[in-house]
Amino acid sequence: MEIIKGKSAFAAIAVGKIAVYKKEDQPIKRRRTEDPEGEIARFRKAKEEAADQLQKLYEKALREVGEAGAMIFKAHQMMLDDGEYQDCVQHMIQTRKVNAEYAVGTAGEHFANIFAAMDDAYMKERAADIKDISERVIRNLIGKGRQDRDFTGPVIVVADDLAPSETVQLDKDKVLAFVTSRGSVYSHTAILARTMNIPAIVNTGIDLEQDLDGKEAAVDGVRGILYLDPTLEVLEEMKKRREEEQQKKELLLELRGKETVTLDGKRIKLYANIGSVSDIAGVLKNDASGIGLFRSEFLYLEKKDYPTEDEQLAAYKTVLENMGGKKVIIRTLDIGADKQIDYFHMEKEENPAMGCRAIRICLERKDIFKTQLRALYRASAFGNLSIMFPMIISAKEVDEILEIVEEVKNELREEGIAMGEAELGIMIETPAAVMVSDELAKKVDFFSIGTNDLTQYTLAIDRGNAKLDRYYDAHHPAVLRMIQMTVENAHKHGIRAGICGELASDMELTETFLAMGVDELSVAPSYILGLRKKIREIKIKA
Ligand code: PEP
Ligand code: MG
Repeated sequence: MEIIKGKSAFAAIAVGKIAVYKKEDQPIKRRRTEDPEGEIARFRKAKEEAADQLQKLYEKALREVGEAGAMIFKAHQMMLDDGEYQDCVQHMIQTRKVNAEYAVGTAGEHFANIFAAMDDAYMKERAADIKDISERVIRNLIGKGRQDRDFTGPVIVVADDLAPSETVQLDKDKVLAFVTSRGSVYSHTAILARTMNIPAIVNTGIDLEQDLDGKEAAVDGVRGILYLDPTLEVLEEMKKRREEEQQKKELLLELRGKETVTLDGKRIKLYANIGSVSDIAGVLKNDASGIGLFRSEFLYLEKKDYPTEDEQLAAYKTVLENMGGKKVIIRTLDIGADKQIDYFHMEKEENPAMGCRAIRICLERKDIFKTQLRALYRASAFGNLSIMFPMIISAKEVDEILEIVEEVKNELREEGIAMGEAELGIMIETPAAVMVSDELAKKVDFFSIGTNDLTQYTLAIDRGNAKLDRYYDAHHPAVLRMIQMTVENAHKHGIRAGICGELASDMELTETFLAMGVDELSVAPSYILGLRKKIREIKIKA
């Protein structure tokens, strides 16, 4: 048995086999073949596998985001079946006597260039799709198709590091745990693991060059330990602790349907953070009173191209309808920093955490922002929606946002599209926003404090830099005073203030937050009932 220590990102236990997640940057080598028929047969098999994978992705997307969002996989299936594309690959193998990988890569480039040169904007965008399906076929050819994204069974995913875009694309039902060699506890990947209720250990320094695939392992996410080839004794201990955890969870289930109220009668809004439509099951199971933060950028991260207005509408509508009239706060796109998306074609920045991120992108690229706002307002007819804007630093920005919002609402009205009422709020996650929160409070309906970024920007500590984890102190008095000031300014102007950063679930601070007057706490779904229990035991007034 080998013991590898890291940092706990989500405290739960898993036992199973390892699958190593490797990045996709594989240069395709041209090889000469003496057996073109054999290569063509390999291509056909890889193509069939790709068709199966796309069908599964279609069915999964249909369940999770509805027909509009799933259509992309149908379109990919059709492109894969296209006679011209197949003829081009086979012809190249036969005439040039090259390996199937090279032929698929070259045919993919060829068709992508044809699409990219077309005048029609829609056809132009198909260039990315043809590249995507060719990459899928190539992955299958080199035997990585399953390993990369579509694991065969539930596995412990071991990776060097995982970008948020890679994490969201993994099939959650097939992931027992995440273990990364690098990575910080405060990164979005760690947050995703918590939201998805998946045990996770980061920063283990594990050597991925060793033969790990298929190895038995146990993940102790509570203590941040990975056991390779665990002994029977360790397996027994894990089993026992898992049963104890399970019993504790079952006891907490008794709190479903109970109010989140302190001993002295203060009602707290206890909401859940989600990253995708599929997280709703956990929200309902744990009886959250609403959704305090839907990180909508994960819809964008899951995709190879901008989600359309209809695709977004389908996702937002599903969430609102499933929440049956309970509050749903959807945050507009917050990409940039560690959440990079290729198709945004952002310029590389020296300092992305302080760069073009979140609302800054939306105000620069109004078309993207307006598409999202249109989808949100169209969805507002189906439930109790609030819209929240991230990374605000000034009242001027809020004015600009409100103007765009009005523009969008007027357009929809003119088109005769039904809308509901949507409250508008902002995230307070920069020291600048805290310092002008008295002014900001006059302009919006609510504040939600993003302690992850507020800590990063107050302490000048990159939240994604694992080497600085020991300095990233969210309990720092500077951070706590910022929270206090924000709540006071919100209340002075009659609006509510919540916390949706990770600190909201830190039970060492629950009493402090309630004493400060925090109205709402929004946490990963699996923390809801434990926090409800804690709040019900607190007496605010001494
Ligand atoms: C935060 O910064 O606390 C927050 C909730 O937003 P994110 O973690 O997505 O940056
Ligand atoms: Mg943030």
